[in-house]
Amino acid sequence: MRGYVSRISILAPVLLMSLSARGAAQQPSGWKQHEWDRPRPPVVEPVAIDLPAPVPADAVVLFDGDDLDAWQKPDGSAAPWEVGDGFFQVRPGTGTIQTRQEFGDVQLHVEWASPSPPRGTNQDRGNSGVFLMGRYEIQVLDSYQAETYADGQAAAIYGQYPPLANASRAPGEWQAYDIYFRRPRFAEDGSLLEPARVTVVHNGILVQNNEEILGPTSYMQFSPYSAHGDEGPIQLQDHGHPVRYRNIWVRPLPERPAPPPGYPPAGIELSSAQLDRFVGRYNRGEQGQGPKLVEVSREGDHLVADINTHSPQRLTPLSETEFALSHTAGRLIFELDDQGRPTAVVFEMGGSRSRGVRAQ
Ligand code: MG
Repeated sequence: MRGYVSRISILAPVLLMSLSARGAAQQPSGWKQHEWDRPRPPVVEPVAIDLPAPVPADAVVLFDGDDLDAWQKPDGSAAPWEVGDGFFQVRPGTGTIQTRQEFGDVQLHVEWASPSPPRGTNQDRGNSGVFLMGRYEIQVLDSYQAETYADGQAAAIYGQYPPLANASRAPGEWQAYDIYFRRPRFAEDGSLLEPARVTVVHNGILVQNNEEILGPTSYMQFSPYSAHGDEGPIQLQDHGHPVRYRNIWVRPLPERPAPPPGYPPAGIELSSAQLDRFVGRYNRGEQGQGPKLVEVSREGDHLVADINTHSPQRLTPLSETEFALSHTAGRLIFELDDQGRPTAVVFEMGGSRSRGVRAQ
């Protein structure tokens, strides 16, 4: 019976995925895509931020007001959108443009303005979009006193998550998106290790809070993830409306460095007698910095160090007198007298060093 149940539970996600691929299943939010009755987020007055926003020193500037040299059509030809005085705008019918450079994890700043005077309704009103890695759209739309389905309004993760607030400015006014994007991670075999995540600040208001992206965004379709490279272009959508853009810059974000091979060192084996001699208390006294007390005890086949009586950690022997803490990058180095008995311990951690004398 147990085997039967566990087999079902293994199959369940597979079944759910195949249903989802046909559009039969709802999204994790419980809402169907483009649900008109899904509640609209509250309107929040945007924060009065100065635009154009300053550009960080290490940013890649994608539009500085002059030309579209950093952009191209997906086929590699020149970006045909119209460049005005310090801005550019969609030239309807010419199609998507995208950055020549490709990016993965980014901090992205985009300023945009809806056409003024406004025209059209619903999705046919100032529609464009910022596609991360050419796949994941943060919706650009005139959502100022204008209604559409919640997962399609300005700053929505299109077709997935409405923004948490409607912080839209009026048509013709410059607006800002600050987008913090973590790309999806895929395993060697193409399976999804980690979905993409995105945080969006619209005109100074947090509207997507580290939200998990469910897969490539699309209209009337649920598209599961399919493996792709670590970088992709930033795309801007031509949805037939002359939406304006300016001051676009991006900061590619680095991977956190992984430890080198062989880290941390495995340690060596010491005999019970070699371990037991270090058991005891070591006091720093009133002078100096660092822990006042290091208490070494034996637990099973290893030593444990309780430092300042609140952080016991297992010790890994690195030599006959040097031990590494199990979790923290700290070391205990014992000093021996000529009989081989410990007299003191030096504690090194985080660039500091202190010494405790063994209590008699
Ligand atoms: Mg769009």
